[in-house]
Amino acid sequence: MKSSFTGIILEELADFLEKRGAPSYRAKQITDWIYKKRVGSFDAMTDLPNELRAELAAQFNAPKMEVVRVLGSKDTTQKFLFRLHDQNLIESVLIPASPALYGHASDRRTICVSSQVGCAYGCKFCASGLDGFTRNLDAAEMVQQLIEIERKSGEKIDNVVFMGMGEPLANMQNLLRATRIINAPWGLGIGARHITVSTSGLAPQIRELANESTQFRLALSLHGATDEVRGKIMPVNRRYPLKVLLEACDYYVAKKRRMTFEYILIAGVNDTDEQARELAKIARRLSAKINLIPYNSVEGLEWSRPSRDRQEKFQSILRKHGVIATLRREKGDDIAAACGQLRLHSAPNANHKT
Ligand code: SAH
Ligand code: SF4
Repeated sequence: MKSSFTGIILEELADFLEKRGAPSYRAKQITDWIYKKRVGSFDAMTDLPNELRAELAAQFNAPKMEVVRVLGSKDTTQKFLFRLHDQNLIESVLIPASPALYGHASDRRTICVSSQVGCAYGCKFCASGLDGFTRNLDAAEMVQQLIEIERKSGEKIDNVVFMGMGEPLANMQNLLRATRIINAPWGLGIGARHITVSTSGLAPQIRELANESTQFRLALSLHGATDEVRGKIMPVNRRYPLKVLLEACDYYVAKKRRMTFEYILIAGVNDTDEQARELAKIARRLSAKINLIPYNSVEGLEWSRPSRDRQEKFQSILRKHGVIATLRREKGDDIAAACGQLRLHSAPNANHKT
């Protein structure tokens, strides 16, 4: 199966053109058509010779990802449902300015990108894993989510988080390719410090990333500060228990840079004072900042978020131990559109195309 042209890398394209005897300036001309002018076909690249357009079309597909539904309105969180070329469905979320989100300035529009159709990791609280895993997205399908959302919303995206459906580090090669395109000046040109990849804790892949030259940020979904609590809600903790996971994080932090922890607060599960104290120890060991996220309820699952008082108490314990912890006020809760709770509501209705 040919990949679509929004997965093209400038240097590879230059090789492709060189082998065909085309002048080297064509490579930049073509990536400008794809990533800057964002045309939908090679035919629209009007300053290329016909013959070259045909050669490119033989090698790459035009992107075929259709927005089938948009939920939410411009000043709130918007959720976009996409149908892929093989009819599979994925979602992305556009989150407007939010001061507490990932420590960036408040005028940032963030997109939450999916990396797989479904997810194999089956965290007990998460909607994305409920139907299991279908397939990896290729790089073009990840990049295309940004392009389509910018087109459809008229907004310029300046922050990208891989916190949609799927486990990005289980799809490493495609992820690295996509982040390279999103980051490159010839691509979408979003600064690496504005790209965050979130993982449920795949220890070997965290080590692998430590050895790569990537510049994007890494967030770890911790959600439990002891094996007992984490293991109850995240099956991945059986394969990589905290000892193994945190050693991989030590390695990452020593080799590279700090990481951030995500910690969703679930009432009666991981929100005790004791968990807060244990979490503080882990955060201090890794000099990590913590994003506390009140749990968003998912239809069909019994979990709920703690009271605001409890959330604040949990945060205050972390702070008392010298740990920087933000408490997110969810945007988009109303339309079930927060990152990490994608697909469940949309998939059954997806045939009622709007
Ligand atoms: N698989 C990766 C990235 C996708 S999930 C990971 O697990 O990190 C992105 C984030 O959303 C994770 O921190 C995940 O735990 C969180 N999440 C999942 N379901 C949620 C829910 N119902 N409410 C709030 N956050 C949720
Ligand atoms: Fe998969 Fe992340 Fe959801 Fe866990 S939280 S099931 S790893 S998407």
